[in-house]
Amino acid sequence: MRAEVKAEIEATGLRAGLATVLVGDDPASAVYVAGKIRACEEVGIASIHHQLLASVSQDEVAALIGELNGRADVSGILLQLPVPEHLDGQALTALIDPDKDVDGLTPISAGRLLQNRPGLRPCTPAGILELLDRHDVSLEGAEAVVVGRSDLVGKPVGVLLLHRNATVTMCHSRTRDLAATCRRADVLIAAVGRPRLVQGDWVKPGATVIDVGINRSDEGLVGDVDFAAAAERAALITPVPGGVGPMTIAMLLRNTLTAAAARTTAPRGAGSGV
Ligand code: NDP
Repeated sequence: MRAEVKAEIEATGLRAGLATVLVGDDPASAVYVAGKIRACEEVGIASIHHQLLASVSQDEVAALIGELNGRADVSGILLQLPVPEHLDGQALTALIDPDKDVDGLTPISAGRLLQNRPGLRPCTPAGILELLDRHDVSLEGAEAVVVGRSDLVGKPVGVLLLHRNATVTMCHSRTRDLAATCRRADVLIAAVGRPRLVQGDWVKPGATVIDVGINRSDEGLVGDVDFAAAAERAALITPVPGGVGPMTIAMLLRNTLTAAAARTTAPRGAGSGV
């Protein structure tokens, strides 16, 4: 997908720019942002990076987002979350122009997704759908079980699957019999943040398993699925590390290009060209 984005930029001569805003010095966030900037450079998307001190005020970050919304060379804006505690990350995200919302996290983008209107979709859920499509996983009428209901992953991936005519079950921390529910799944998606929560015998033989979890442990990065045991029953399964993580970055590039292309064709303020 990265090669496809690169080829499209070369073929069209489209100028795309991604603005990244990182507040404070959280090491994991710094690594994520650096990876995104590197990926942009590899495909020919310009990076405009803003590193802000952890002590920056809500108004200062808001002013920066306002400035980036107005810049013609910025096609996408990414505010790296979480922001320090004295800031309201949700309120700041909501200030991003929805047509530059390459993370797909503003309320407008969420509404467009829910109503199946054109718009930028959150990168991890969109990457999961791309993975399923590129491996010809049939979704029409399939039993899809999503474990986790966050605004970032669980809810949007559930909605995307619903729009593709899967029968979607959303699970969370109060789900009564998680194992039995997972065993029904033709497509099982774990986005929980609990190392190896999903056991091998929760996987229906022949199922497709997507592991979104990234958990840091003594053994390194571990997913939400017990990979070795689940792989014995699954027809397809994503690894951690690998799988969904790199797809998320690929979708960020794709979204940035989509946003840039829409800006060249749609009059500003015309709703959504994306
Ligand atoms: P959140 O913490 O926001 O959400 C976790 C969800 O899991 C909640 O809905 C919670 O339920 C549910 N949950 C927690 N414990 C259980 C349990 N024992 N049984 C069933 N459900 C449970 O996490 P995110 O959605 O942001 O992220 C999930 C994981 O995916 C994390 O490991 C994160 O690092 C990773 N991630 C990976 C990305 C990638 O690029 N690969 C991108 C984004 C996230 P409740 O709502 O009831 O509290």
